[in-house]
Amino acid sequence: MSDTQIDLEQFRSDIRAWLEENCPQEMRQPVKGEDDVYWGGRNASFKNDAQKAWFEACVAKGYTVADWPKAYGGAGFTPAQNKIWKQEMARIGARPPLSSFGIWMLGPALLHFGTEEQKVHYLNQIARGEIRWCQGYSEPGSGSDLVSLQTFGEDKGDHWVVNGQKIWTSYADKCDWIFCLVRTNKEDKYRGISFLLFDMETPGVSTKPIKLISGNSPFCETFFDNVVVPKDQIVGELNRGWDVAKYLLGHEREMISGGGLGDGAPSLGAKIAKVIGTDDSGNLDDPMLRAQLAQFDVDALAFKAMAEKFVDEMKARKGHPAKPNMMKYAGTELNKQRHELIMASGGSDALEWESETSNHGAKPRTWLRTKANSIEGGTSEVMLNVISKRILDLPGA
Ligand SMILES: Cc1cc2nc3c(=O)[nH]c(=O)nc-3n(C[C@H](O)[C@H](O)[C@H](O)COP(=O)(O)OP(=O)(O)OC[C@H]3O[C@@H](n4cnc5c(N)ncnc54)[C@H](O)[C@@H]3O)c2cc1C
Repeated sequence: MSDTQIDLEQFRSDIRAWLEENCPQEMRQPVKGEDDVYWGGRNASFKNDAQKAWFEACVAKGYTVADWPKAYGGAGFTPAQNKIWKQEMARIGARPPLSSFGIWMLGPALLHFGTEEQKVHYLNQIARGEIRWCQGYSEPGSGSDLVSLQTFGEDKGDHWVVNGQKIWTSYADKCDWIFCLVRTNKEDKYRGISFLLFDMETPGVSTKPIKLISGNSPFCETFFDNVVVPKDQIVGELNRGWDVAKYLLGHEREMISGGGLGDGAPSLGAKIAKVIGTDDSGNLDDPMLRAQLAQFDVDALAFKAMAEKFVDEMKARKGHPAKPNMMKYAGTELNKQRHELIMASGGSDALEWESETSNHGAKPRTWLRTKANSIEGGTSEVMLNVISKRILDLPGA
């Protein structure tokens, strides 16, 4: 059914009523820590009954991936319905029922490049949170210059034997399967890469955590030693995995860019006013901070308008394919700026490391984590290169 044939006002009120009935109050709080979101997977456990109830209610309706077709575990929402679903979720501050690289990255790539069998099999698993996926793109020496990757899949007839190393594989030690870029032809840099899916429990796969500046360790080195991958676990054509990889990166960049808008909590100004107080006329005490905040608010509004337009274009399969790079650059720089302002307003109290709550809402770990936003999924410098070359048509980038 098309959007013009649907009574969208009725749809909105149905969604509102459903959310009212099914989204527990505990699931309408801002996400504070890693276990406030459910990531699914073979070894997953729920933090509490509310998280479980919310997840299960959404799975039953296809709402974990509302805009995917029903045959693949979604609710088959049109773009307009999906927008209303997201608006109504945001209105009550509902947490996503399931967070997953499968939803944000692999799913869109499978919808575009997967065979029917792959779509039915993998997308339904993703929608039900059964398999947790990680991303095997980067290698030591192949980050920004990803096409130089060396992990090699040797053709053995009905399977490949994969050898090599990946790095920065987020949550590899917790994930069940990996979507992985593997060189299957050494002669052609671009047309020599294939996009493979395989189980992390396959003999020969091992992971080693890397400790980060924030003190956490969700990132891994991942090693492949004679890993056997069946031939039907390739997505897209042999040696044309770069097309799949680029498409997926567009969705990854769009997803990462979202951080610039904030976390749905009270506005940044209101948050900072609570910390540093206001003058007699109700304005923020510190004029410098006031000016920086005003600039942030203007930039955030512009970003929000741009993001909404780009997302609509993407869902309608229109618009310039390089635009997610603009969103990624603007969104992640904005997110860093937002957290700099939060830290600045907290003063020396904000540096308190152990407590995430007593330092006026400033969170040093979260602040440090934002530094990685403009590196992961492609660095800001590389985004600027793409924008200048593919959008502005400038020479030599
Ligand atoms: C938090 C986090 C999570 C990540 N998760 C994953 C994951 O799950 N899976 C995965 O595969 N990867 C992951 N990555 C890796 C990420 O994709 C790479 O870090 C990123 O692509 C940059 O590559 P690099 O680290 O090798 O840096 P390099 O490519 O070595 O770049 C180093 C510096 O040089 C600059 N530079 C490089 N080339 C150019 C150029 N042509 N012009 C201008 N400047 C340039 C870069 O901007 C950067 O500042 C993650 C990274 C982070 C930080």
